[in-house]
Amino acid sequence: MTTSLAAPETNSLASASLIEKRPSEQYVAPAKPSLVGVSRAALAEALGAIGVPERQRRMRVQQIWHWLYVRGADHFDEMTTLSKDLRLALAQRFILARPDIAAEQISVDGTRKWLIRLPGEAGGGCHEVECVYIPETGRGTLCISSQVGCTLNCTFCHTGTQRLVRNLTAGEIVGQVMLARDQLGDWTPAEKHNLPVAGHGDRPRLISNVVMMGMGEPLYNFDAVRDGLNVVADGDGLSVSKRRITLSTSGVIPNIARAGTEIGVMLAVSLHAVTDELRDALVPLNRKYPLRDLLDACRNYPGVSNARRVTFEYVMLKGVNDSLADARALVRLVKGIPAKINLIPFNPWPGSTYECSDWQQIEKFSEIIFNAGYASPVRTPRGRDILAACGQLKSATEKLSAHERLALRAMAMTD
Ligand code: SAH
Ligand code: SF4
Repeated sequence: MTTSLAAPETNSLASASLIEKRPSEQYVAPAKPSLVGVSRAALAEALGAIGVPERQRRMRVQQIWHWLYVRGADHFDEMTTLSKDLRLALAQRFILARPDIAAEQISVDGTRKWLIRLPGEAGGGCHEVECVYIPETGRGTLCISSQVGCTLNCTFCHTGTQRLVRNLTAGEIVGQVMLARDQLGDWTPAEKHNLPVAGHGDRPRLISNVVMMGMGEPLYNFDAVRDGLNVVADGDGLSVSKRRITLSTSGVIPNIARAGTEIGVMLAVSLHAVTDELRDALVPLNRKYPLRDLLDACRNYPGVSNARRVTFEYVMLKGVNDSLADARALVRLVKGIPAKINLIPFNPWPGSTYECSDWQQIEKFSEIIFNAGYASPVRTPRGRDILAACGQLKSATEKLSAHERLALRAMAMTD
């Protein structure tokens, strides 16, 4: 698997229809490309291009990889195990940039949300996506995005109402983890750098888990997601175990098995309904990939077992999909699949037509699932004060003037 330094091709949506949008832009690589997110093979190629002899490349790649992904270097100058000449040659051709942060918000519960600025097409504008850090006892989860906007139009999701602008590159996917480590001070300090990289030596990492549940449908940006997540999971680098990385899809069946074999991360599927009729309305992609086939793809997910269960996400919509008969049908539907069921209280957004189910109803629903032998955690709403849900920081800050944005940034920096 190699990541090329050239601009990735936008995936073609052969049978694009009303249920799928096409990207309107393609990523344009800057004159000096960033080495963040490129595979080891592409890094070796880049070294070859600046004259590093072949016999040295493997070792140099290891060194750069370590500086980038264990120590968090953002300048070639920091890479003191490389000769000055090599550092200079690298700096003339490449950068180590992560995406810029346009705004940071910190919730009273410790959740942090970053609005990330990405370059637009050559010479024109920029785009924004979100990345959220959720600290919990004993672990910390980073939620990352895969597209600017989304290919699909789920009716309860704010991202679905936005047009799809472009796919993120592998570097932008890896860059989200790196900038979160920058912001949280979550890199391995110099004196610990020769210790095993599973933690920071004497304290666990702040980012222990990564979920791809931010903006976008990851399986419609397959190559960049695969290459990016493989870098995030690399044991000599960022080293987030594949068992602690979860990719959430709305059900792009042809790429589900590929996600298992080519990425090998945990799978979450946005189910949200127990009949095709209702799922067609909530997740219009269901008209193309119906429930029965989706459940078969989950049953056959490579590596699935009781220790590696598929998570079914189920958003609780009042009077729509939250009856106790729905709960019983849900249990029947996932029978035989090693599964967890994650109930998500609906997070309303301005203009949304749905309401969140009553808490009592969520509890009764959850009890039926629990009694059938499934773990059924209800996803606790986090960071509500900073609108830390799908697509919402972006829309909130879009309404701010340039002056207000600067003030937000300044507030973030003084924290
Ligand atoms: N596109 C992927 C991943 C991103 S969305 C997918 O759909 O799976 C991550 C999860 O948040 C999905 O389960 C999605 O259905 C859910 N979600 C979207 N909008 C929501 C909202 N307003 N309230 C609660 N959950 C929402
Ligand atoms: Fe896209 Fe997921 Fe939102 Fe559906 S729920 S519109 S697939 S981000």
